Amino acid sequence: MSLVVQKYGGTSVGDPERIRRVAQRVVETAEGGDAVCVVVSAMGHTTDELIELAAQVSRDPHPREMDMLLTAGERISMALLSMAINDLGHNAVSFTGSQAGIVTDTTHGKAKIVEVRSARVREALEEGKIAIVAGFQGVSTARDVTTLGRGGSDTTAVAMAAALEADVCEIYTDVDGVYTADPRLVPGARKLRQVSFEEMLDLSANGAGVLALRSVEYARTHGVKLHVRSSFKPDEGTWVVKEEDVLEQAIVSGIAHDTGEAKVTIRAVPDRPGVAGRTFRPLAEAGINVDMIVQNTSVAGLADISFTLPESDLARAEPILEQLARAIDAEGFTCEREIAKVSVVGAGMRSNPGVAAAIFEALADEGINIEIISTSSIRVSCVVPARDAERAVNVIHERLRLADNVLLQADGV
Ligand code: ADP
Ligand code: ASP
Ligand code: MG
Repeated sequence: MSLVVQKYGGTSVGDPERIRRVAQRVVETAEGGDAVCVVVSAMGHTTDELIELAAQVSRDPHPREMDMLLTAGERISMALLSMAINDLGHNAVSFTGSQAGIVTDTTHGKAKIVEVRSARVREALEEGKIAIVAGFQGVSTARDVTTLGRGGSDTTAVAMAAALEADVCEIYTDVDGVYTADPRLVPGARKLRQVSFEEMLDLSANGAGVLALRSVEYARTHGVKLHVRSSFKPDEGTWVVKEEDVLEQAIVSGIAHDTGEAKVTIRAVPDRPGVAGRTFRPLAEAGINVDMIVQNTSVAGLADISFTLPESDLARAEPILEQLARAIDAEGFTCEREIAKVSVVGAGMRSNPGVAAAIFEALADEGINIEIISTSSIRVSCVVPARDAERAVNVIHERLRLADNVLLQADGV
């Protein structure tokens, strides 16, 4: 008998009919002889609606109360799914994150799981019950209810799978796997059979919302077998595997895009040792994650420094930047919100030069201006105007022939 963790996302449990369909699928798995622990997200757009509701009541909702509110979403779906399964003649029992033993740190809104005390869920499974766990939530070391950040039910699922030593963690969603690009944006995107943890980390970190970044990190660290698949179709989806287990390594695996970042330029910074440290230290101390830092060559002893940061952190960053521009004798700073980061990810880029050039040429041919470029050994990211993001992803997808299942040769690109 295997132990399976199945996670169903918001769309998959979006209405009563879909909840009954999920119940049916869970029951089929149980009847096949597997022990099943199910993790559920809030129904449809419930989380967005609750955030909106809070905004109508308070200008700056208290983080603890915000988490209390948001966890209600997953609580609704866990109870409804449990009822639907019980109606099918199986014994299901639901647990909040706290009851399931998900212990987190105290950072409301994006808490990190520090421990999973899975005894209660394990007991239920041993009694032959189907355990339903509310995703996206836990209880902090200070005994307050916390949430794990948007998309956090994926992380709950992986953490439960690790704690229960499950044979597989299945992420059921509204697409049938991980694609070469968001299939909503690129109609010709192709489903990947496998993707390595390293590539998936880069895709998730750069905007591919199909798997939450932390869930991929957690799965890699704890050796959880991860299978992303459709909740509406029975087909095999995408397996996230160790790099050495990838059967066919394409040069490029996928393209992600992120419109949630903003670009800051600090102008005419005196070019002397210590300035970069003084610039980024106060931002780091405020917990603001900056990315894609570029400093141009100095003209007359002055250089511009540009970088990106999450748009949601911009309001907090602005007063810090004002102070710091004065402190380092810079001319001032500018912020641009209407940008997008387009990232091309593939482990095969390590040994195949030419991909970056092909990406830049594809953008140039379309007249899309690149504002910042950054690269790692398996990723090339370009900041482009937000209005060009969709076109940029499509033209790069086409230029790199990602729709065809070919192992690209760089010089053929
Ligand atoms: P769930 O509610 O099931 O967690 P999400 O909306 O969080 O679902 O994630 C699934 C969505 O991720 C898809 O509908 C798709 O639009 C988007 N997505 C972005 N990039 C990719 C990709 N590379 N492959 C598949 N889906 C992607
Ligand atoms: N309901 C939460 C969200 O919308 C968590 C999740 O769906 O994974 O972000
Ligand atoms: Mg999700």
